[in-house]
Amino acid sequence: MEVVRKKAPVLYLVIPCYNEEEILEGSMDILSDKIKRLIDKEVIDPLSKVVCVDDGSRDRTWDIILQGSKKDDVFRGLKFSRNYGHQNAILAGMLESRRNADCVVTIDADLQQDIEALDDFIAKYMEGCDVVYGVRNNRDTDGAAKKLTALAFYKLMNNLGAKTIPNSADYRLLSKKALNTLAEYPESNMFLRGLIPTMGFRSDIVYFDVKDRTGGQSKYTLKKMINLALDGITSMSIRPLELIMIAGGFFCLLALVIFITAIIDWARGNVVQGWTTMVALICLIGGMNLITTGVVGLYVGKAYIEAKKRPRYIIDMMIWDGSDDTEKD
Ligand code: UDP
Ligand code: MG
Repeated sequence: MEVVRKKAPVLYLVIPCYNEEEILEGSMDILSDKIKRLIDKEVIDPLSKVVCVDDGSRDRTWDIILQGSKKDDVFRGLKFSRNYGHQNAILAGMLESRRNADCVVTIDADLQQDIEALDDFIAKYMEGCDVVYGVRNNRDTDGAAKKLTALAFYKLMNNLGAKTIPNSADYRLLSKKALNTLAEYPESNMFLRGLIPTMGFRSDIVYFDVKDRTGGQSKYTLKKMINLALDGITSMSIRPLELIMIAGGFFCLLALVIFITAIIDWARGNVVQGWTTMVALICLIGGMNLITTGVVGLYVGKAYIEAKKRPRYIIDMMIWDGSDDTEKD
């Protein structure tokens, strides 16, 4: 492919970190080494950096970032005032970096995603892509439960109208242009995997291998996963509301049919029977009603949160441009 961009880009790597004290030091060494190798090969600009976003960790994560940045100028750091979640951590990293960077790649702190794929990401960027998605070759490292839930989630998402690139997570490159566009999306409920494909731009895919977590445990608890799935669906699609209307119509029709048969039975002089069916139907329709109210309530609730326009995250401390541990005001 033809190279469109001539100058080696300033690359900022964004790393969301939540209680990662077991592995962060090791990961930072590997990332710093990788950045330096890319600089030596003149693939990226010498001003390239690694931005660690501490998502309100309660362990030594911030100390590790602080120490790392004192030893090695390649590191930048952001510290959230509390845990705002993975999506907000990468969002903050990307938005802060876009002032200095030509392109940003987001990657998890546990480095389960193969960092050697960075060369391919940059190559695609040089070819003129503004968005490059990392797509995993395998799911061998995930347990059966995670595999199944992930698969079900992507199937459901696609059926509900929120298109995502299959098997792509948040290992992704965005150019400055794409980042500036992303910054114009004001919504609090952001699901980057679904949102970024809707922005358009020239995009491509890079395949990478997935490895085991070297230490610590997955920070994505079941609760966080369910929340991500719900946010994904409710932020990208109103399909559930339409489905409810269809279900409502179906039950109205059913009721009509039952009503007509009841009248025919009565006209024929049959004794009124079918108490059980009656009660069962009442329960069914009552249940449907509750679910419906719940789903509508979910969307109303989301609209309420969006209407308040609260900040998506609050940065407590920053290590940026030589100054360390700056209080952000
Ligand atoms: N993470 C985060 N905030 C959270 C949960 C996770 O910033 O509330 C980060 C975590 O530190 C890691 C990345 O998100 O860098 C992915 O998390 P993890 O590896 O635990 O998820 P998994 O690989 O099991 O999906
Ligand atoms: Mg992981």
